[in-house]
Amino acid sequence: MKTFFRLVKLAWPLKWGMVLATLVGFLTIGSAIGLMATSAWLISMAALHPSVAALGVAIVGVRFFGIARGVFRYLERLVSHEVTFRLLSRLRVWFYRGVEPLAPAILERYRSGDLLSRVVSDIDTLQNFYLRVLAPPLVAVVTGLGMWLLLGAYNPVFAFAFLGFYILAGVGVPWLTHLLSKRLAARSVVLRSDLNASLVDGIQGMAELVAFGQEDRQNARIEKLNRELVRVQVRLGAINALQGSLGSLLTNVAAWTILVLAIPIVRNGQMDPVYLALVVLATLASFEAVLPLGQAFQYLAISLVAADRLFEIVDKAPPVRTLPATGPTQAATETGDYSLEVKDISFSYEPGQPDALQNLTFSLRPGQSIALVGESGAGKSTLANLLLRFWDYERGEIRLGGRDLKTIPPEEVRNIIGLVSQRTHLFNATIRENLAIANPKADQAAIEAACQQAQIHDFITGLPQGYATPVGEFGMALSGGERQRLSIARAILKNAPILVLDEPTANLDRQNEQLVMQALHSLMKDRSTILITHRLVDLAGFEEILVLRSGQVIERGDQSHLLQEKGLFNRLWQLQTAPV
Ligand code: ADP
Repeated sequence: MKTFFRLVKLAWPLKWGMVLATLVGFLTIGSAIGLMATSAWLISMAALHPSVAALGVAIVGVRFFGIARGVFRYLERLVSHEVTFRLLSRLRVWFYRGVEPLAPAILERYRSGDLLSRVVSDIDTLQNFYLRVLAPPLVAVVTGLGMWLLLGAYNPVFAFAFLGFYILAGVGVPWLTHLLSKRLAARSVVLRSDLNASLVDGIQGMAELVAFGQEDRQNARIEKLNRELVRVQVRLGAINALQGSLGSLLTNVAAWTILVLAIPIVRNGQMDPVYLALVVLATLASFEAVLPLGQAFQYLAISLVAADRLFEIVDKAPPVRTLPATGPTQAATETGDYSLEVKDISFSYEPGQPDALQNLTFSLRPGQSIALVGESGAGKSTLANLLLRFWDYERGEIRLGGRDLKTIPPEEVRNIIGLVSQRTHLFNATIRENLAIANPKADQAAIEAACQQAQIHDFITGLPQGYATPVGEFGMALSGGERQRLSIARAILKNAPILVLDEPTANLDRQNEQLVMQALHSLMKDRSTILITHRLVDLAGFEEILVLRSGQVIERGDQSHLLQEKGLFNRLWQLQTAPV
């Protein structure tokens, strides 16, 4: 019930569109009833051979209702689809706004296929919420009321008989359908989402699946899900058919009942016989309003499951909370103070998990560069996650420009601290568009200057389409080194005063590593830099190097100092510089 009201609340701003669509929906059915009623009266009356003048109004009525029905049906489709598409766009924006603050900490827990399926198929499912769940009952209620008044005007007996069947067809049958299809509907939503997720997984991991000969297993899994989904849909189809037949049966039984009730009333002279066909045929036509209600219940069940899946994600508390400021609040961009102080930071990803960082302390003055080195899993990227406010820390303190990091909104932090990470995401767009996301205001000259600094300009101009070259899905058309240099060009365009370089040369060969490092040196000029790396190359210029192991700093100092120490740094250095 709560989910239902939350959905209604989301759709609330579109209420006037819905009211209009409901009204036009009612007018469509009203015209159908009017058409049947006036035709019935006209034919009955005509049988009595009256003058043509006596039939004139009814003839106009038949024409009017005949045309009006078509026009209103068209308008109803137009208005209700307009409302539906507006609702869809609202839902998409609402969901995206809810999801964005969760990235990346919470979204990491979901399969990308699963998220995709929520964004696409669950939201699509909800397009039915207005069209097939909310609107039909409203139209049915208004139609029922209208018919109650119409039949009651002839005889209250008709009104009661009509209401009995109307409620049975409008509430009884849908309720039965709901009971029969509730579990199946929920299952079909989950199955469809699983199937989508498996398909996306399968396509993304196709190379690995083929390499390890696992494609048959994945196929079998997809086939199994598909078979199960078809089975569920066949059963839902059967329930639909049952509901359709029960609806038709009740419609006809209602019309017959009214006929049977009307005959003695006409005989007793309590009703003019010309109205006999009218009440029967109007009843027949009015049931058009209740027939979609069975489906409305089914769509209700499906919509609620889909909505719950969306709410589940949107309701997640964001991984970082911005606290009210207690000290200075002036933005670093105004004060020009880009110092960074990290004091005694300890952090674990989950309660009970060992600390990924323990008592880390260092400071970074503007223009200074420090390096964080250590083997994989030492906790280096964790620091980047904390500095960029992807995760919140509990123990210790970080100050940026003298302000507590937790009081600075994440967007502001990310304008001050630029990240070049080991995984650069490139969008399936042109090189220029991919660069412009770092600074949408940058013109071509600025973009080219950044690319020159990042040592990628010559490569780009050598491409047949230059900056307009599409990079393919995930930048597949580029090599790892080219992607990294584009990422550096982005950081230059963004012009953040503090840089976090997280393994920028990981997965690159020597030659590319050299190119990327050259590009990085030009990027690091006039900026403070934290380089996170397990490769000990080009560290001579760094003022301080922190050597991390299992989240703890075990050595610190500049390169020559650390080499003399003969500790872990020295050992790693020997390993990495040893001739192969
Ligand atoms: P490094 O960058 O030095 O390779 P990380 O900072 O990525 O190391 O990881 C440090 C520790 O934290 C590792 O034990 C890793 O398993 C754990 N870890 C990293 N990311 C997560 C995460 N999102 N959730 C839980 N544990 C994580």
